Amino acid sequence: MRIGILALQGAFIEHKHMLDVMHVESFEIRQKSDLNKHMDGLIFPGGESTAMHRLLLDLEMYPKLTQMISEGLPVFGTCAGMILLANHISNQETIHFKLMDITVERNAYGRQLGSFFIEDTFNSVNIPMTFIRAPYVKAYGKDVEVLATVKERVVAVRQKNMLVTAFHPELSNNTYVHTYFISMIHEKTK
Ligand code: GLN
Repeated sequence: MRIGILALQGAFIEHKHMLDVMHVESFEIRQKSDLNKHMDGLIFPGGESTAMHRLLLDLEMYPKLTQMISEGLPVFGTCAGMILLANHISNQETIHFKLMDITVERNAYGRQLGSFFIEDTFNSVNIPMTFIRAPYVKAYGKDVEVLATVKERVVAVRQKNMLVTAFHPELSNNTYVHTYFISMIHEKTK
């Protein structure tokens, strides 16, 4: 198994470290030609969605990535990665991949609560969650499964081959969410 990690900007190296700990092979996607390498799953890291959007456009990576995800490649987006995959962003006009039936609100926790740490349940399992100027899922369609709700806000969902979290599991040493993502890949190849 081999996972491609979008490495244009943001917290991609932390995902790589997490996968290393789990003995899952991964590589960094830095340019369009990297998309031709074999991958069984894809990670969109946290960072700044506006900067990532700019780079995805400049490097002409949108069409191929959109096709790969639409065709069923398992993808895991954290924070800015969640924003990139959403169909709607409630407080912004630019939309990106427009692949997930969710409406997200960016920087949803205000200045004082911009970043916080909490332990709460993901898929009924208690895990550490780090939020950094995080979005949350304001609305979602019927094909979307809610996996975590924190402070009455939906912060992790799955729709078919797409998993997104508003928090950063890669910044903890708890591998549960990454393990969940790997199991989505196994499900697909069964
Ligand atoms: N606030 C960032 C954005 O809107 C996301 C923050 C993050 O990925 N930690 O893109």
